[in-house]
Amino acid sequence: MRLNELTIHQAHELLSQGRISSVELTRAVLERIEQVDGRVRAYLLTTPEAALNSAEAADRRRAQGEDHPLLGIPLAIKDVLCTRGVQTTCGSRILQGFVPPFDATAVSKLLDAGSVLLGKTNTDEFAMGSSTENSGYFVTHNPWNLARVPGGSSGGSAAAVAADECLGALGTDTGGSVRQPAAFCGVAGLKPTYGRVSRYGLVAFASSLDQVGTLGKDVTDCAILLQAIAGHDPKDSTSARLPVPDYLSALCPNVAGIRLGVPKEYFVEGMQPEVEGAVHAALDVWADLGAEAIEVSLPHTDYAVPVYYLLAPAEASANLARYDGVRYGFSVPGAQDIWDAYRKTRQRGFGPEVKRRIMLGTYALSAGYYDAYYLKAQKARTLIKQDFDRAFERCDALIVPTAPTTAFRIGEKTEDPLQMYLTDIFTLSLNLAGLCGMAIPCGMANGLPIGLQILGDAYDEETILRVAYAYEQATDWHLRRPQL
Ligand code: GLN
Repeated sequence: MRLNELTIHQAHELLSQGRISSVELTRAVLERIEQVDGRVRAYLLTTPEAALNSAEAADRRRAQGEDHPLLGIPLAIKDVLCTRGVQTTCGSRILQGFVPPFDATAVSKLLDAGSVLLGKTNTDEFAMGSSTENSGYFVTHNPWNLARVPGGSSGGSAAAVAADECLGALGTDTGGSVRQPAAFCGVAGLKPTYGRVSRYGLVAFASSLDQVGTLGKDVTDCAILLQAIAGHDPKDSTSARLPVPDYLSALCPNVAGIRLGVPKEYFVEGMQPEVEGAVHAALDVWADLGAEAIEVSLPHTDYAVPVYYLLAPAEASANLARYDGVRYGFSVPGAQDIWDAYRKTRQRGFGPEVKRRIMLGTYALSAGYYDAYYLKAQKARTLIKQDFDRAFERCDALIVPTAPTTAFRIGEKTEDPLQMYLTDIFTLSLNLAGLCGMAIPCGMANGLPIGLQILGDAYDEETILRVAYAYEQATDWHLRRPQL
């Protein structure tokens, strides 16, 4: 096995036994990027020199007796998280040239632990999309089939993990952007509860939905990454003042007596039969392990797509008002006056999907329409949350598909935004309710991975990790790797 193919926990073991160094590990990963990223295009930017320097520093720390599961581990960061001294574009032309003077809290926690940052991964512009095709720079390809999308918006991070171009990665999930690309690329992706991880330094898309998440080659790696980034942050008033449990000790393969809810609304007409079949087969695995399946209902599931696509654009329209060509990044020169400068900068800096959302959001918030759209959507959001509250009275976690299909072809849905929005039907509700969820691989169809989701109650990441871990121990889908 090549070093870049290791999981985080495998690499940690070899590092702490002194059998490999972080410099060797980092070199192997950088070589892999060199070899395959011309085809995958997961990275917007890499920082090889800085990576080797921090690998050396990590080796020195280890020589002095320090140890941490992430010390010396090379990781990738979605380009919506601010990195001090390293350009952060959110996949948008409007932030070209923006170099943040500070690190996002999630990033600084990884750095404190001694991890090695490899670079910034591609994303749909401002994380708006489900395929990474909305990047203002280029399209990322699915490592399993280069003609297919990697999912989105954290498609760069998921593809980098799947192609062994990093050992793990951070993504963000506003409506599924960690879980859906994890499913499309056959890796594990965890979206923590809203408030579990600080959003400080995460460039805001929809502030009431955004959450930093982790992508790894298996469940253990997601637990290690979550452990490092979770916790209250005085710089983010929405981060929860709750103690952080020991997620690694939650990884016990015993799920006897665990109640797994199966919401009937998530098995809809028109979904790919192999996906439905794989999720049902996974339920049989859990049943063999002693878990109990319970049919539940989340009756307001149908409203998730319209509610999300009103609220997320409404929040985005406010959050994106700050890109005026004065404060950050790109600015069109030679404007006649300040209004002309704003107009030209935003016209050229933003791509079509971002403009569509700013218009939708501004409309939904405007006087006269606010009650009919924004307020109504907020009320429906509460109903969606109450559906989950009722379901979690009867079960410990819910099992659902991640997406109705496996990865679709590049270009297949770009002409029809509604078709693209519909790919999110199984992921949006969780963000609207503010809960946690995890996607793990559970099958293959025509050479493409299938993913299922384990949804958990607020701040109960431990249960979803445990349920995921038990499944992973009993199966080998997580061991498959694409041939590149
Ligand atoms: N696909 C959804 C959207 O386009 C979710 C994106 C995300 O989670 N960042 O908004």
